[in-house]
Amino acid sequence: MSNKYFFKKNIAILGLSKSGISTIKFLQKKGLVPIGWDDDKEIRKKAKQQGIKVENLQKINSQEFSFLIVSPGIHTIGFKKHVVIKKAEIEGVEIINDIELFFRLNPGSKCIGVTGTNGKSTTVSLISHVFNKIKIKNSVGANIGKPIFELRKPGSGFYILEISSFQLELMKSSRFQIAVFLNITNDHLERHGSLQRYASEKMKIFNNQEEGDLSVLGVDNKISNNLLKRIKKKNKSKVLTISGVNNQSNIYVKNNCLYINCILKKKKKITKKVNLEKFKNITGSHNYQNIAAVYAVLLQLGFFHWKKIEKAIQTFIGLPHRLQKVREINSVTYINDSKATNLDSTDKALSNYKNIYWILGGRAKEKNLSTLKKHFFKIKHAFLLGETQKLYANYLKKYLKYTITKDLKHAVCLAHELAQKSLIKNKKTIPVVLFSPACSSLDEWKNFEERGNTFIKLVKKLNN
Ligand code: ADP
Repeated sequence: MSNKYFFKKNIAILGLSKSGISTIKFLQKKGLVPIGWDDDKEIRKKAKQQGIKVENLQKINSQEFSFLIVSPGIHTIGFKKHVVIKKAEIEGVEIINDIELFFRLNPGSKCIGVTGTNGKSTTVSLISHVFNKIKIKNSVGANIGKPIFELRKPGSGFYILEISSFQLELMKSSRFQIAVFLNITNDHLERHGSLQRYASEKMKIFNNQEEGDLSVLGVDNKISNNLLKRIKKKNKSKVLTISGVNNQSNIYVKNNCLYINCILKKKKKITKKVNLEKFKNITGSHNYQNIAAVYAVLLQLGFFHWKKIEKAIQTFIGLPHRLQKVREINSVTYINDSKATNLDSTDKALSNYKNIYWILGGRAKEKNLSTLKKHFFKIKHAFLLGETQKLYANYLKKYLKYTITKDLKHAVCLAHELAQKSLIKNKKTIPVVLFSPACSSLDEWKNFEERGNTFIKLVKKLNN
């Protein structure tokens, strides 16, 4: 497809964060002068300083543009739909995002796409880590790290792209030779309206797949069977199912072992058992699901050096803010899981430990904590933070002891004090201080990283 087709008119960019700016810079290199807009005055000012033309897109007829390119944070559907989007729809201008533009300009590129409510970043990072170890060139980005237009070309290797449902909303042309859909649980429903609609957005990861491509689907959620039927009906690709529990899927986990049972290209049958306990840095059933996805990718590429794969996974140190061990004081472990911004990820965190001093709260994603109830018997005390304090206090009062804290510092100090005291009383039951908020960070923090880094600093300052 020639640039002439794309660039016959100018291009408008809504949202001047990382992806917006990198798209503009890419277009500027093509000789265009794209017009950008952001509702935030400070961001507009910074963009202007970088030589970007900034104009209020509400005041320009959208038909002057070939496309309106939108950042993932901006609502394109639902009651919060941005006015510029409404206007573009009325004026008949196509609305896309940077990833869609990338695929239109690079239709044959080799791409692996990973989506899911949880586990995307861990999985793409682990795939990339293993690829690096086994010397397959790759470039990782999109919803993690660098935006797509800043990624270096991976030569004969693969782009490994983390793709959120917000990004999938505006994607039509993507074709992933390997597409992974890890899981789906209630999240972002304020934007998508219902779980069904959220699932439909996520299913777009399998768009345009062809014979010989691979679709990987996690099948541990309520609507998984339905999704599996949909892919099989619609796609010509090979489908591999993965599961964190024992079932009929192609790759599943049972008693801390991964079982692989697949028929691959040319009817090649693969069966293999992998002991997951070897992977000390990436534990828990949720991570085992992520590991299963990595094996699925490698099988598709015909890479069967089991020892090399195991060695590579063993050296993965995990990502910060995901069940990250910060410190041990008198055998009490302090865990930063600030990335747990929804109930499912906190569910996975709580499954991992006993005798938990649990710090939680922030901006609510869900009104009650009922899906976590099964873990309450292991919680010694909860420390409530943020906007959800009263809401969760009200819910928890029937089940466990809690304290409404002043701030994160107060929560960390109290949790530390109680956990250490309990250790003095009973040396056999080793407690853990777990910061797994189950909520978004946006009530008090810029993002989950800032929240997690503050937790780390506070823990590092604690006295023995
Ligand atoms: P994402 O990029 O999809 O947000 P991350 O890898 O950053 O996923 O992990 C987010 C949170 O979810 C962390 O708290 C992590 O421990 C947890 N998590 C990781 N993988 C999974 C999974 N497969 N299922 C459920 N939770 C997971």
